[in-house]
Amino acid sequence: MYLSKQDVTYEAQRVREEYFPNDYSRDGLEEILEAHGGELVYVSNEYIQESLLIHANGSFKIFLPRNSSAVRDYFTIAHELGHYFLHWTKGTEESFCRGESNPIEWQANWFAAELLMPEQLFSDMAEEFDYDINDLSDYFGVSRSAASVRLDALELV
Ligand SMILES: [Zn+2]
Repeated sequence: MYLSKQDVTYEAQRVREEYFPNDYSRDGLEEILEAHGGELVYVSNEYIQESLLIHANGSFKIFLPRNSSAVRDYFTIAHELGHYFLHWTKGTEESFCRGESNPIEWQANWFAAELLMPEQLFSDMAEEFDYDINDLSDYFGVSRSAASVRLDALELV
């Protein structure tokens, strides 16, 4: 399935408008999980960490590593939700694993970035914080590397 960056951005914006009551709130992710029967499962088995299993009825499980950080989990959840909203064929059972180098992986990352760091707000805050990565990562609740990738991707630096 071909999706442009713009297509992915639109879908992330649609999801954000539906579930994130304010421009930016971590609670939005929990609302999405709740509305779709999504469950977070913490596992030690590295083969299934950071993967997604969607049941035919649309409920799903996101597998997270036991020893990860909140900001990393936060981005992983948003990434897996990208697969859920962009790539899942409704009515089928499907799973998505990380590390496969195919277009759906950048699409899910782009979706996650837009969901958690809305383009307009991010560029406003980048200017306000004078492009400081620490301030941006604190503000958006993401890792320094996620904030840094977002700055580059939006060509703000
Ligand atoms: Zn993925």
